[in-house]
Amino acid sequence: MQVRVLGCSGAIARNCRTTSFLVDDDLLVDAGTGVGDLTLDEMAAIDDVVLTHSHLDHVAALPLMIDAIASRRTQPVRVHALRPTIDALRTHVFNNVIWPDFASIPSRESPFVSFHEIAIGQQLQLGSRQLKHIEVLPAVHTVPTCGFAVRCVEGTSHWVFSGDTERNSPFWERVNAMDVGALVIETAFSNREQALAERSLHLSPATLADELALIGPGRNYPVYITHTKPSETEEIMSQIAAFADGLRAQGLEQRDIRWLEADGVLHI
Ligand SMILES: [Zn+2]
Ligand SMILES: [Zn+2]
Repeated sequence: MQVRVLGCSGAIARNCRTTSFLVDDDLLVDAGTGVGDLTLDEMAAIDDVVLTHSHLDHVAALPLMIDAIASRRTQPVRVHALRPTIDALRTHVFNNVIWPDFASIPSRESPFVSFHEIAIGQQLQLGSRQLKHIEVLPAVHTVPTCGFAVRCVEGTSHWVFSGDTERNSPFWERVNAMDVGALVIETAFSNREQALAERSLHLSPATLADELALIGPGRNYPVYITHTKPSETEEIMSQIAAFADGLRAQGLEQRDIRWLEADGVLHI
């Protein structure tokens, strides 16, 4: 299974695109502005989209993508999300004001997009060409949010994505029971912005350190940092590097912390 990083930034700027991952060629995880780098053929090959939550940096490209590929597809794009996320999209985006209601265009029987409710803890199988097993993980954020653990049906290792979150011990209870090939976890703000991180329910390097301490003993897998605000990325990186140095100095278990790069591909 391969995970192509389309966007991994906490905001937009030149060369900064917001959260989106293409798993193999048929499953999209979040639909931030990184989707706009795909060709029409690549977009048209996406049959399923799973969304962590309704925030704009995770859904901005969804309405535009559906419009771009509608004429190339014979089946609706299936969007899977928590019920409040679906309600938000229907009410605030696909409402015939901001964007057409593509769940009833060209007809209710054969629309361009269909919505499918998922729930925390649910396990589902998606992917029309390369079947994937997906578990919906808990997250702690200002709106109902989830993370995902994805693996090939034949494979054993999971690609785990935290979604937007603050401290989240139920997430680690579940992830510690999985074979993890790679973890992508957010760190949106620097320690300097800790108050803002707590208010907006995001992680900072300090709270990331607390979270990584919950990884079970003897378990070591690559931990990729995502969702840094472009204006704070260097500060966040240096604060995480200092935390890693501290672990080394104290003789504590090391973490394999890496930086997620847009256009990078993770092979799980
Ligand atoms: Zn968010
Ligand atoms: Zn976000």
